[in-house]
Amino acid sequence: MGRIIAIANQKGGVGKTTTAVNLAACLAVAEKPTLLIDMDPQANATSGCGVQAVEAEQGNVYHALLGHKTAASIVRPTEIGHLYLIPSHINLTGAEVEMVSMIAREQKLEGILEEIASGYEYIVVDCPPSLGLLTVNALTAADSVLIPIQCEYYALEGLGKLLNTIRLIQRHLNPKLQIAGVLLTMYDGRLNLSRQVAAEVKSYFGSKVFRTAITRNVRLAEAPSFGQPIVLYDILSPGAQNYMSLAGEVIGHG
Ligand code: ADP
Ligand code: MG
Repeated sequence: MGRIIAIANQKGGVGKTTTAVNLAACLAVAEKPTLLIDMDPQANATSGCGVQAVEAEQGNVYHALLGHKTAASIVRPTEIGHLYLIPSHINLTGAEVEMVSMIAREQKLEGILEEIASGYEYIVVDCPPSLGLLTVNALTAADSVLIPIQCEYYALEGLGKLLNTIRLIQRHLNPKLQIAGVLLTMYDGRLNLSRQVAAEVKSYFGSKVFRTAITRNVRLAEAPSFGQPIVLYDILSPGAQNYMSLAGEVIGHG
């Protein structure tokens, strides 16, 4: 059974998708069979792996969540060996609404993964910027949650709500859910603000903070427009080095 890691934070723009795509790609580069699942209707992880909307429309995560297609039929290979993708699609924003009336609506992704998880060592799930049903599905299916925190103003704002959701899911839906760790993103060591936020996050989360911080790196922001994870776009960039180091920590956690 693959280890399932949800990348979650209900704030937008904190680096969830960048982390999901690049952590998954780096795990694959380390020859770990890895499945990336895009649970966000914005489908940024999908396009970030070079899959166009017209292709994703044919078979994506919502077809599986709603029971219209098997999970195996929507998995795609990517340009990176060992990296597979279940895409998302913008047209299916309505699927979340459709799911609300379904029985065991929180456990749809868990059900999908039971069919296919044995084929992978790691499964990385990119969550949308909300604590709605799609994120709840991800947290219910996951072994652990990785929380990216942007080194910016109000970094810790809203985290109480996320931690509370995690506790509720541990209590009612998924007792095995753990916090994989907190990841500092868009860190800039030259800025007082970045250093202050990092110190604050470390004093709050202690040993749960990954040793690797993701520094601000323009190559990470450019790569998605070429449909490439950073290890394809610019393997020598600091961003690629940071995400390889994060993958090493994730693998080391066992
Ligand atoms: P989320 O999925 O949480 O909304 P994204 O991963 O899409 O966040 O990141 C938000 C924006 O910041 C994107 O334009 C992305 O390319 C950019 N970005 C993310 N991480 C970095 C980084 N370390 N350095 C520079 N830009 C980054
Ligand atoms: Mg995103």
